[in-house]
Amino acid sequence: MCLICERIEMIKNGENPYFVKELKTGYVVIGDNQHFYGYTLFLYKNHKYTELYQINMNERLEFMKEMTIAAQAAANAFGCDKMNYELLGMGDTHLHWHLYPRRDGDIGNYGNHGRGPVWWYPMEKMYADDNCPKREELEHMKDKLNSELEKLL
Ligand SMILES: [Zn+2]
Repeated sequence: MCLICERIEMIKNGENPYFVKELKTGYVVIGDNQHFYGYTLFLYKNHKYTELYQINMNERLEFMKEMTIAAQAAANAFGCDKMNYELLGMGDTHLHWHLYPRRDGDIGNYGNHGRGPVWWYPMEKMYADDNCPKREELEHMKDKLNSELEKLL
């Protein structure tokens, strides 16, 4: 089973501490690591597609719509200078959006003199254990994101 499917299984079993909300086409979850505070993911429900263009147009538009709602909710809940939206799939092909609230200076002097995608920040820093929200902080973040989602749905 792929990592995204595993996380979705955990949601279905009520065992995913990062789960925020189920939408029609996917699940909104808080990211495991929070160097980019408010990092949120939107996981597509169906494992079988690996490309956006494989999804029938009605569902594709719904998936895109819900992704932008998740992004807006994250921006409203956590604040940012700019949202970044990424759907990559070189690690796990299961369609999932990375939604990153970005702020000036958030990659330090890495990248192009401090400018560039989140991936130009060193992986060992981005995924460091001390970037994982503590239980109480995670609950606070989930509540904030959920209430902003409710306003937009
Ligand atoms: Zn999967």
